[in-house]
Amino acid sequence: MHSKPSIVKRIALERIEKLFELAAEKEAGGGEDGMRLAKRYTRLLKKIGMHYKVPLPKRIKNGICSGCGAVLIPGRNCTVRMASSEGYAVYKCECGNEKHIFYRRS
Ligand SMILES: [Zn+2]
Repeated sequence: MHSKPSIVKRIALERIEKLFELAAEKEAGGGEDGMRLAKRYTRLLKKIGMHYKVPLPKRIKNGICSGCGAVLIPGRNCTVRMASSEGYAVYKCECGNEKHIFYRRS
């Protein structure tokens, strides 16, 4: 096993990150079109990740609703509830899907 990611994977990762930025940007722009484009980009970046077997970076994985594919923007399309004693936050998307995001307790 190589410990260094291949150039192909590195390029795939760059594309994934670019698409995520683009999706967040489109979604922040608002409107039906923005939402539709954002979901299209997140679908695409997941596909790229699977195709090249590149695991999605945490912030991207956590930032996308696994239900509808929207970029989760607290206060806009999702609510955040802290379950401090459990060590995670619950992100609830407007589509109804809930995501538990674990964080390290200090
Ligand atoms: Zn959703």
